[in-house]
Amino acid sequence: MKVEKNLQNLSKCLCMKCPSYTNHCKLKNAPQNFIKLMNNFDDTEHYEKMFCAYEKSDCIFEANGCLCATCEVFKSYNLKHQNYCLHTGGIM
Ligand code: SF4
Ligand code: SF4
Repeated sequence: MKVEKNLQNLSKCLCMKCPSYTNHCKLKNAPQNFIKLMNNFDDTEHYEKMFCAYEKSDCIFEANGCLCATCEVFKSYNLKHQNYCLHTGGIM
């Protein structure tokens, strides 16, 4: 099932609390994430959060743990993969 790009799901995403999401990436991505949130986050291919609904990150390149399996979105959509930030569609 395709993860819907909506605010309800976005608010449940744990990516920002994940050790793989570095402080550098949080600072770098904050402006564009905010602008897209105010405009077209539901109509874009790329967003630097909720990577299970979007493509992989342009900033995260190293796995340091993944919180996806504990996320409510993961459970709701019966997702099976992890590390959606590193590979579009995630990896087993
Ligand atoms: S997809 Fe997984 S590894 Fe990547 S930031 Fe989100 S919780 Fe962390
Ligand atoms: S399953 Fe992972 S990428 Fe998807 S919303 Fe949850 S924490 Fe974010």
